Amino acid sequence: MTETAGTRGTTGSTGTTGTGASGADAVTNWARTVTYTARGFHRPRTPKELAALVAGSTRVRVLGSGHSFNRIADPGPDGVLVSTADLPRTIDVDTAARTVRVAGGVRYAELARTVHAHGLALSNMASLPHISVAGSVATGTHGSGVANGPLASAVREVEMVTADGATVRIGRDDARFGGAVTSLGALGVVTALTLELEPAYAVEQRVYTELPLEELDFEAVAAAGYSVSLFTDWRRPGFRQVWVKRRTDRPAVDFPWAAPATEPLHPVPGMPAVNCTRQLGVPGPWHERLPHFRAEFTPSSGEEIQSEYLLPRPAALDALHAVDGIRDTVAGVLQTCEVRTIAADPQWLSPAHGRDSVALHFTWVKDEAAVLPVVRRLEEALEPFGPRPHWGKVFRTPSAVLRERYARFTDFRDLVRALDPSGTFANAFVRDLLGH
Ligand SMILES: Cc1cc2nc3c(=O)[nH]c(=O)nc-3n(C[C@H](O)[C@H](O)[C@H](O)COP(=O)(O)OP(=O)(O)OC[C@H]3O[C@@H](n4cnc5c(N)ncnc54)[C@H](O)[C@@H]3O)c2cc1C
Repeated sequence: MTETAGTRGTTGSTGTTGTGASGADAVTNWARTVTYTARGFHRPRTPKELAALVAGSTRVRVLGSGHSFNRIADPGPDGVLVSTADLPRTIDVDTAARTVRVAGGVRYAELARTVHAHGLALSNMASLPHISVAGSVATGTHGSGVANGPLASAVREVEMVTADGATVRIGRDDARFGGAVTSLGALGVVTALTLELEPAYAVEQRVYTELPLEELDFEAVAAAGYSVSLFTDWRRPGFRQVWVKRRTDRPAVDFPWAAPATEPLHPVPGMPAVNCTRQLGVPGPWHERLPHFRAEFTPSSGEEIQSEYLLPRPAALDALHAVDGIRDTVAGVLQTCEVRTIAADPQWLSPAHGRDSVALHFTWVKDEAAVLPVVRRLEEALEPFGPRPHWGKVFRTPSAVLRERYARFTDFRDLVRALDPSGTFANAFVRDLLGH
């Protein structure tokens, strides 16, 4: 039976370590575009079980909610895949310190509800709340907003089980912290994270339609809300939709460049807006407006492949024109393209490391043979801007090129060698990237 990491409950799972070797080859990612190869699939229920499993294994990769589109989580046929979904779902809110200590396998939807019940909030969320906290920050997952860093920027401390089964805690005052959060799962199993919170706030979301690319003042549009996303299908120039999320506790900014939509919309043309968070300017809690997709529905179309590239924000307009120049090639296999902004991030391997960034995201049709040549063509078009691909999505940039794009890459490699000298957490994806 095929098990889909991103949507399954406990059905069909082994539930415990030791018996979990069955069916690892039938575990897939959320989009069912990747079938993980592993000689065992384990779902430990206690920290002790997890530590024993890791210490007794020579090759381990962790599976979060399985929303990545490439083989980043795949241990390979000689390794074991470990899900954190059955470990205790700790969510300890400290209202005085305004922090939460959350188990790595908890999904943002559950975390956000709990935090909100304490009158507190995260500063940002991704487009969907279904993703696990540890898996998201491991790949540099982000939302949008010129002043909002990636989700990893909320992390104060990370707690992980390393290859020998020991628990290691790395906080912000530790010299290793810069490599410890957006770590691609290469250091250990992240069992808990301490995140910064702020007082709960309300957000209202409006969608505007048909924003022209000609004469676009990208900086002004991107700054017209707390979180702004531009969507296009590239079938013709310009943007079909702009989603503007405004905090009600901050001054409103006019949006004179496009007309407001008069009914709720889905970013993928033709999909029902019922899956999307409330629009038309109705204020609501931060966690019910910052994601585009509602927690209780399948996000996005489900039938898709995704790619995304982060570039320096000052290059946004030139990069958009570069994509416009290959519009016909891109549009043929595209469901929707989303443009977001991310504030510079200190994490060494964050695609937003050291530069305020614009992210060009592409939701492709689910046809790898048709999509991959377009991904290559797109990467050529974006090359002058030094694009850094999202670690959890489909890209073709060679590792040697990627290594050059991260100023602290060597520091990250040294940290991997120090924390995981036996290469227990190094799968093909990580080995290729590190160059050994
Ligand atoms: C519909 C959809 C919408 C998306 N929207 C966005 C978006 O808005 N913004 C964005 O930036 N990305 C987005 N993504 C991408 C997604 O956020 C990333 O792929 C993210 O890594 C998913 O988290 P996950 O828990 O599913 O990770 P997985 O795919 O399960 O794992 C990703 C990596 O994290 C590692 N990992 C997972 N858990 C742990 C752990 N406990 N300890 C150590 N390593 C761990 C894995 O080994 C792997 O290397 C989207 C994906 C989908 C399918």
